[in-house]
Amino acid sequence: MDALGGNQQHIGEEDKENTDEVVVLEEEDISEGLHACLRSLNGRIFADRNFSTGTMQGAMTTIWGRPEGLQVVDKGKNQFHFFFDKDTDVARVERGSPWLFKNFILHVVRWKEDPMEGKNAISTFPIWVQIWGLPEQFKTIEVGRKLGRKIGSVIDVGLYEVRGKETRIIKAKVEMEEDKRLRDSMKITGPNQKLIEVGLRYERLGTFCTYCTLLGHDSKHCQQLLDDTASDSVRKEAIGEWVKADQVGRRIESKSNTDSSYARAPGSSTPKPRKKPAPSWLLENFADLNIKGDKEQVRKTTNPNLMTEEEENSFLADALKAPTDTITSDIL
Ligand SMILES: [Zn+2]
Repeated sequence: MDALGGNQQHIGEEDKENTDEVVVLEEEDISEGLHACLRSLNGRIFADRNFSTGTMQGAMTTIWGRPEGLQVVDKGKNQFHFFFDKDTDVARVERGSPWLFKNFILHVVRWKEDPMEGKNAISTFPIWVQIWGLPEQFKTIEVGRKLGRKIGSVIDVGLYEVRGKETRIIKAKVEMEEDKRLRDSMKITGPNQKLIEVGLRYERLGTFCTYCTLLGHDSKHCQQLLDDTASDSVRKEAIGEWVKADQVGRRIESKSNTDSSYARAPGSSTPKPRKKPAPSWLLENFADLNIKGDKEQVRKTTNPNLMTEEEENSFLADALKAPTDTITSDIL
């Protein structure tokens, strides 16, 4: 076994003289423990204050919808190891990450066997960043990717329909470092060299400091602000509360096809038929879905052979918007 082989390499010279003191474990000795760990997640709370196992046990039982047999082990420095009885709970909690716990970001990842202590430390978490104020011609996946890279490593980029004056925005999902300072804007120049400032807003951001721009505390608990107060050098706040996004929007751009949305954009020359309203049985099926829609769930309630992913999403949104008095029974 790798783990045991690795450990044996660390046995010092003096230990070699007492090899009968070293207890050798066989695979079957640890199979039960390994089995338990395979149904577990490592998690980290991005907060400046520490939380106890008891607090986590109670709170996460509620937040995660009472997963069977939840056990929490404290790994120190706000890192926890969560054990579950059922694989389905592990998968569900992992998929929903990052979570908000007392408004702090809690990110969980699948447990991995790693004998090197500390190697499993979680120092990043995924977050969606919205880019506001981009000129329409700059709203491309590539622009989203370039701006996203300034914040963290980019996981996904998409074009989204949102409420408000600016009806479409680019969003980038990035893996953000814990000690990365939040920025509320970014300067860009296009091919015409004109400087443009765009706004950044973060989804499910949790507690952050408008003064020092770090995550994990608010400005009332900011050490930097205390220090600056003591030295009478308090600056104005670096970022506004508005960096917290107040909507997530609806994806209108598929991952692979950057130009497709422009072909179908409002005002384009391609004629577009009016959407057919959804029947009541379909609306009932969608009642437990929110606007951003879980694609897997959607596939279960509609026939995947009938629609492409994009049609499916727009159909879902229309179904949710459709007033009941326009429902006809002749659809599908
Ligand atoms: Zn601060």
